[in-house]
Amino acid sequence: MKNLDHWIGGLAVAPGSGTYFDDLNPVDDSVYARVAAGTAADVDHAVETADKAFRQHRDLPAAVREGWMVKAAEIMERDAALFSEVLIDEIGSPAAKAGFETRFALSFLRAAAGVPRRVRGETIPSDTPGRFSMSLRQPVGVVAGITPFNVPLIKGIKQSAMALATGNAFVLLPSEAAPKVADLLAALWREAGVPDGLFNIVYGNGAEIGDALTGHPKVASITFTGSSRVGKHIAGIAARNLKKYTLELGGKSPLIVCADADLEKAVGAALFSIFMYQGQVCMGASRIYVERPIFDAFAKAFAAATAKAKGGDLREPTTMLGPIISERQRDRVRRHIDDARTKGAAVLAGAEWNGNSCSATVLSGVTPEMTVFAEETFGPVTSLYPFDSLDEAIDLANDTEYGLSASIFTRDIDKALRFAQQAEAGMVHINAPTLHDEPHVPFGGTKASGFGREGTEADLEIMTEWKWVTVQTATAGHGGH
Ligand code: NAD
Repeated sequence: MKNLDHWIGGLAVAPGSGTYFDDLNPVDDSVYARVAAGTAADVDHAVETADKAFRQHRDLPAAVREGWMVKAAEIMERDAALFSEVLIDEIGSPAAKAGFETRFALSFLRAAAGVPRRVRGETIPSDTPGRFSMSLRQPVGVVAGITPFNVPLIKGIKQSAMALATGNAFVLLPSEAAPKVADLLAALWREAGVPDGLFNIVYGNGAEIGDALTGHPKVASITFTGSSRVGKHIAGIAARNLKKYTLELGGKSPLIVCADADLEKAVGAALFSIFMYQGQVCMGASRIYVERPIFDAFAKAFAAATAKAKGGDLREPTTMLGPIISERQRDRVRRHIDDARTKGAAVLAGAEWNGNSCSATVLSGVTPEMTVFAEETFGPVTSLYPFDSLDEAIDLANDTEYGLSASIFTRDIDKALRFAQQAEAGMVHINAPTLHDEPHVPFGGTKASGFGREGTEADLEIMTEWKWVTVQTATAGHGGH
């Protein structure tokens, strides 16, 4: 097995530590790749290289950057099967999820092709006679990106495409569970024509070398996706150093089913929202509130439908559930289920393990003393709760530190829009799953679920800096009439 080295300045660079760590296939914990264990010195090397490349290439025309995005999209389309293979074997994605992730990354690249020509400012009326006044959006310099294990291709593409499209250089610290996906990105950007040094990767343990990256004086902006715990830590570093940052963090997203809802559609959406990729999705509907008159009918139909959320061969298109990523995460899922059971929750479906996979698990009777009530499980586990009025449902939905996504199923437009307005969430979907993303929307969460938004429009906030420029023209003179 070949060792995977850092990618810095267009070269494979061995780690300063001389050591490599094992990247495991979660199906059986066999070694999938051996990967450079980065050090703070490696991070410094990558950032310095990125900074030099930024200065060298910052004036490239928008049309050139547009060309990179178009070419990258062509390569992604051509190599879709290869990207999917790595998502299956490296992070245990069922083929359906791997295909979805690859298609979304492709559509993001296509949308990003429109970005370079839209990095625009304004002309502004000036209070000073004869003064021509304008604002420019300029690239910030070096952008640092940090990805989670669950959607490493989507996040790696979103972060790097936006940094490159807006004229910056980029340093990626990929999830230690998904380095091979990052390696594919290095090849993608190189073939797309991005000059060496504008896209760099440092591998390693984020807990050990992350601060060297986010705190580096030459990193101007940070785009992070991962847990709220690490996000808050990064916010502290960014604030102390006056860096721009976007945080895409955890969730405990509610899905509300009113008595007038289309039950079949609500069941289908709930199933997809929580069991896609074995529940390892930030927008997962881990709390489902059902209006009391239909609670039993929904619970019965939903528990029966979990049979459709089946495990098995990851390459089978109908497989929905794969393995849980790591022993640490498996412990967490087990702990949440066992604690709920011990404290009296009913298991309506699932809670069975087959190797590293947990079956689709539906709980009811969950109370605030149970860990699963408030904490993000990040596994195939959801809880059903009854409610009696929309006001109560809104209070229950908002009774969480998180605020990522929220859904409501109802045929009553007044109820739907009241929920959309009052839900404390960054994203609300009516009669649709909690789980949804598109390249050009303001994607993100409120409360402990995030800070800032990402997407082809929203990312301009952290990827560019305003500059005000004026020109005093001679014709009108100074202070004239
Ligand atoms: P994690 O926070 O454990 O790790 C995320 C990344 O942060 C990893 O690459 C890790 O190496 C790195 N890291 C750790 N310590 C760091 C530090 N001090 N400085 C810089 N980087 C550091 O999260 P995870 O387990 O990989 O992913 C799961 C979490 O991500 C869940 O909470 C999930 O909800 C969230 N998530 C959010 C979104 C979103 O868009 N809101 C999308 C996917 C996942």
